[in-house]
Amino acid sequence: MLSALNQQSADNRRHDDAAADALAERHLLEAIVRQLPVGLTVQDERGNLLLVNDAAAGHFGTRTKALTTTTTGDDASFAPALPAAAVSEEERGDRVLLTTRSPIRVADRTLVLSTSIDVTSQKATEDELSRRAYFDELTGLPKRNLIESHVNAVLAGAGAQDCFALVFFDIDNFKHINDYYGHAAGDALLQKIAKRLSADLRPGDMLARISGDEFLLLLHPVRSEVDLISTVDQLIQRLKAPMLIDDFEIFASASVGASLYPDHGATYDVLRHHADIAMYSVKSATKGGFAVFDSGMAREASARTELEQNLRLAILEKRFHCAFQPKVDIRSQEVIGVEALVRLYNEKGVMQAPGTFIDLAVELGLIDELTHLVLDEVMDSIDLIDDYFGAGVSISLNVAAKQANDPLFMRAFAAALAATNCPERFMIEVTEDAFVNKSQFQTDVLPGLRELGVRVSIDDFGTGYSSLSALTDITADEIKIDRSFVTDIHKRPRSQAVLRAIESLSEALGMTVIAEGVESYEELAYLQGASRIRYAQGYYFSRPVTFEDMQASGRTADLGRGRAESRLARDHRVSQSRTTRRER
Ligand code: C2E
Ligand code: MG
Ligand code: MG
Repeated sequence: MLSALNQQSADNRRHDDAAADALAERHLLEAIVRQLPVGLTVQDERGNLLLVNDAAAGHFGTRTKALTTTTTGDDASFAPALPAAAVSEEERGDRVLLTTRSPIRVADRTLVLSTSIDVTSQKATEDELSRRAYFDELTGLPKRNLIESHVNAVLAGAGAQDCFALVFFDIDNFKHINDYYGHAAGDALLQKIAKRLSADLRPGDMLARISGDEFLLLLHPVRSEVDLISTVDQLIQRLKAPMLIDDFEIFASASVGASLYPDHGATYDVLRHHADIAMYSVKSATKGGFAVFDSGMAREASARTELEQNLRLAILEKRFHCAFQPKVDIRSQEVIGVEALVRLYNEKGVMQAPGTFIDLAVELGLIDELTHLVLDEVMDSIDLIDDYFGAGVSISLNVAAKQANDPLFMRAFAAALAATNCPERFMIEVTEDAFVNKSQFQTDVLPGLRELGVRVSIDDFGTGYSSLSALTDITADEIKIDRSFVTDIHKRPRSQAVLRAIESLSEALGMTVIAEGVESYEELAYLQGASRIRYAQGYYFSRPVTFEDMQASGRTADLGRGRAESRLARDHRVSQSRTTRRER
């Protein structure tokens, strides 16, 4: 009896133990499910929630629910049970959830198991990456790729009557502004420009920043070219108002070109290219203006490309020579120096004067190399120079204003001049625009040149930006009065007055004056008789000639010291006899 009782209590104990184990196991599983970082819910066929773990409760703002087979029937609205498996992204307030739903068979029932993961931060990173790929950090504007795909989408949906415009804005002298006011001010300027250009955009329009200082505007739709012109004119006017940045009033302008769909192209690339060409035609004529593309511009642009190609090749293949033109003392008739003037030859051997290519070489960044090559050629010809023009004559080299204000180039060039062992023979000719405002040339470059004994001349004086009063800030050794004042000087009282003013000012400042472009005896006679100008240069004395020309024509003796003298004497006689004839 006792043993039977014992047996029963042992059975009971075993049963209780098993039940306790099962319960413990269930609690463990529940705790795990509850605390899983992935949201988990189970719903019955009607959408009633049977299980909601902590993560899911957090995601959906409901209460956690341990697994139960009884339903309260109040949460059918939670989410309808989906019949099949599904993955979706859902926005819940400020969060983004990635959810999956799949049916599971349990005994004879079909329940729905849902999972949810909070992907808010991944999503934010993704959005940030695509924002960076398509939008410009500084201005917040779309980038090149976005406007391109947008225009392509517009083109794909364009009907027969559709008309839109691409407008290309290139900020004038932006590099100059950046250098002068600093990069922070440059950035602020770009932001203001972006704001002004995008102030009145319509829903179909888009403004993009496509590179450093270039903006591309899609105007969609545009009714007519007249319509386009008036819109762009307004934008240009808006840009012209001064911008206050760091207490500076900065004035900006843009060169603007536009193309119209369908008149000027049927693809983004063509339209963009043609807007670009129109912009370039403006930039090379008058900065700050606006032009709509026309086919003449395309011809010009292709001629320019050809010229560009020729220039690159000519420099690469060293197809150039220096011509030399003497600078003459008009009292003693002595040659006091020579100016080296570069000439290029095209592939047919035809000579090209620098007027056709110097600006382009500057623009293409080829001028620095060319200037070094000119110096090399001068040094190769130094004995000939001494023989023909007189031992030790000074040698003038032209340097573009842009180079003069580039300390990096000028340092290298000064080093090359120093390496000639006769730097004191050289004179650098720069135009007035090299001295505008607080030029780097004046402050950073000039002192180094002075140390070497290299002198500086202001070329084409009177044609650039400087006013006479600006001369007082410039420390140069020589002023070359531009040919435009010298031509027919004997007949032009206004030029005579300008000449006198330049003369007395430069005398006071201790600069030598030289007259450029003297072509006739009358001009020379005026300078000799009515001015204190001592030096001159011009066809009257000699055209610029290369040593190749001289050797080929055997005119060697003609160009030396004696030449100016003999020619002077001859022309004087001619002129006298003319006068005599006229007098008769
Ligand atoms: P520039 O330095 O003012 O040179 C004077 C120009 O006037 C030269 O033209 C010369 O041939 C021309 N000339 C001289 N005397 C007379 C005259 O009596 N009558 C007329 N009508 N013209 C005269 P060129 O050789 O065509 O050079 C044009 C410009 O190209 C130069 O003006 C100079 O600014 C630039 N240049 C020439 N060589 C170089 C160079 O190596 N580097 C740079 N950066 N510029 C250069
Ligand atoms: Mg010159
Ligand atoms: Mg000149």
